[in-house]
Amino acid sequence: MTYQGHIVLFVGGVGGAKLAHGLYHTLKPQQLTIIVNTGDDFWHYGLRICPDVDTIMYTLGGLVNRAQGWGVADDTFTAFETLRRYGESPWFRLGDQDLATHMTRTARLREGATLTQITRDLSASVGIKCVILPMTDSPVSTIAHTQAHGDLAFQEYFVKHRWQPALRSLSFVGIEDARITPEVSEAISRADAIIIGPSNPWLSIQPILQVPGLRDLIGGRDVPRIAVTPLIGGRAVKGPTAKIMAEFGLDVSVKTVVEYYSDLINGFAYDERDAAPELPTDAAHIRLNALNTLMDDEHARQRLAHDIIAWLADWSMK
Ligand code: GDP
Repeated sequence: MTYQGHIVLFVGGVGGAKLAHGLYHTLKPQQLTIIVNTGDDFWHYGLRICPDVDTIMYTLGGLVNRAQGWGVADDTFTAFETLRRYGESPWFRLGDQDLATHMTRTARLREGATLTQITRDLSASVGIKCVILPMTDSPVSTIAHTQAHGDLAFQEYFVKHRWQPALRSLSFVGIEDARITPEVSEAISRADAIIIGPSNPWLSIQPILQVPGLRDLIGGRDVPRIAVTPLIGGRAVKGPTAKIMAEFGLDVSVKTVVEYYSDLINGFAYDERDAAPELPTDAAHIRLNALNTLMDDEHARQRLAHDIIAWLADWSMK
């Protein structure tokens, strides 16, 4: 692979982590910066938990529980079970090793470190050589407005209620005051290509794109800006993407996803099992590429990463 460019990848958690992992093992580490959603972050038992950042970190660090795609492999649950002994009913499953991540992060936040600094140090501790950046250091909280249960903090919607309540809408508390960090700004400004991973466009990518100024920063770059489909055969590979599209009254199709990103991207990778989406005239500038986007094992992740990089390497010749 002769591609020498620097790629900025935007992701949420489990779906995005698969492509992050593929790219990490295909590029040199200094060629990759990963910008991660923090709208899912929350306080729990006094600890700051950053589910998406940790999923990316555990995946790239080779620690992840592969069967579930998040958490640490072979973790023990002594602390979690002890909470039960104390009469608690914990609904967010926390392993002991995972708990140590949150304890370290929380202690450092209380000492005044930023989430960006802490993420850099935790990542380095688990041997990660590329840069992982939270979308912002400002606190942002995704709220799910549901029909059955009213307003739910994101993890209550996603984990406690297993994303079953129908969503009316989402809001991102704190987003108006969120600041782009110098690290995110610098990474986007020097990117040779920008990729939006196959993460949930509404739950995972939307909060990132709502950080004031970020859309303009991305859209202002005259480089390949491609998104990878989160839908294959009209369905999400995992999670509620298709379900919430239907709940929002949207057509559950790749075309809807392309249109959602159309003012930001100039390339879209749809899955080769699907027909090419028919684009409206205002999206005619978007180059389409049919790729095998199903990342069901490590080989498949690297194959997709390789195909995307080959596309980027050819980009300027078209
Ligand atoms: P979450 O925050 O843990 O829900 O994870 P993300 O938002 O990063 O990813 C969820 C999305 O990833 C869902 O829409 C899935 O359909 C998509 N996804 C998961 N695995 C794959 C895959 O192998 N290929 C593709 N194309 N999409 C995937």
